[in-house]
Amino acid sequence: MENKNIYVTMPTLAPLEEVNELMKGIWASGIMTHNGPLVQRFEKECAAKLGVPNMVSCVNGTIALQMAIRALKLKGEIITTPFTFIATISSIIWEGCTPVFVDIDPETLCIDPKKIEEKITYHTVGIMPVHVFGNSCDIEAIGAIAKKHNLKVIYDACHSVGVDYKGQSVFNYGDISVTSFHATKMLNTTEGGGCFTQDKELDEKLRRIRFFGFENHADIVEDGTNGKMTEVHAAVGLANLKYLDAALADRKRKYLYYKEKLSVIPGLSFQKINEGCNYSYFPVIFPDEATLLKVQAKLQENSIFPRRYFYPSVNTFTRLVPYTPMPISEDIASRILCLPLYFTLADDDIERIIQIIVNAIL
Ligand SMILES: *Cc1c(COP(=O)(O)O)cnc(C)c1O
Repeated sequence: MENKNIYVTMPTLAPLEEVNELMKGIWASGIMTHNGPLVQRFEKECAAKLGVPNMVSCVNGTIALQMAIRALKLKGEIITTPFTFIATISSIIWEGCTPVFVDIDPETLCIDPKKIEEKITYHTVGIMPVHVFGNSCDIEAIGAIAKKHNLKVIYDACHSVGVDYKGQSVFNYGDISVTSFHATKMLNTTEGGGCFTQDKELDEKLRRIRFFGFENHADIVEDGTNGKMTEVHAAVGLANLKYLDAALADRKRKYLYYKEKLSVIPGLSFQKINEGCNYSYFPVIFPDEATLLKVQAKLQENSIFPRRYFYPSVNTFTRLVPYTPMPISEDIASRILCLPLYFTLADDDIERIIQIIVNAIL
């Protein structure tokens, strides 16, 4: 038995020489940051690759969410999902807004649009849904509710690089869509993020917000922050971008293989995904938490470290939010496990993981 550790994910990385070539240029020019040439190139190449008009890069996905809230001047309640990473919620709170939870659909694991309207109050200003594991939300239904109640929509699309919805990039939906280029995400700049909007003025405003609120390096016209991506991060992103197609194809193949093999085990279920998903994670939903813990323990004995994700449901973080019961999210969170899935994961290891799970359950 091999003794190397297998984690839930590993970054997709270009060969180091390709990053170094770009680094040489940075060292030669002395331009490290401040919307430098590589940042501009990264934004342009990403926009072309992803099929969006523009991208506003920034330091990470969390700041990108905060910049989006600020650009839309939201003050009040923002409806969101409890089945997400904590950053969705903390960005709302850091912008002085109040997160209001709406439970998820048990199959898609995204916010249940049928439950949104009952949570809308006089104080509601926006909706921040999450495309969970790259599976797009019911964008039509959410858009219709937002329109009817005059609410802004910011999509937390941190899992969604490479995702299409109705034939175009999912980043083209909502007032602003936000993604993450964190090391664990589909495309990475080590740390990084981006905002996408169809609205030219909003795009310019986001650029000012990420640069202290400056306009043309002169006058301060916004209440801004320092959200700038550096040239070094953009270089990593540019190098990695060349491997995005390969990474997407590899994820899909491995995802479908896992699913085919694990579908025969009674009691396991899987997220219902729609077309255009990027297959970035492989979550398995167990019949109960005890089974999950048993499988997790068996995998760990074999130096395999899947991750309970998202766990726990964020509405239970009572130091941050008052507890409101979200029965579906809490239930799913207690019995969902993401299995290892990444570019350099060997097929033999997937086979081994599947065998361990089969043996643990059957
Ligand atoms: C990763 C992630 C974030 C935060 O992105 P960072 O780049 O790590 O700040 C926010 N929301 C979701 C759903 C995420 O998975």
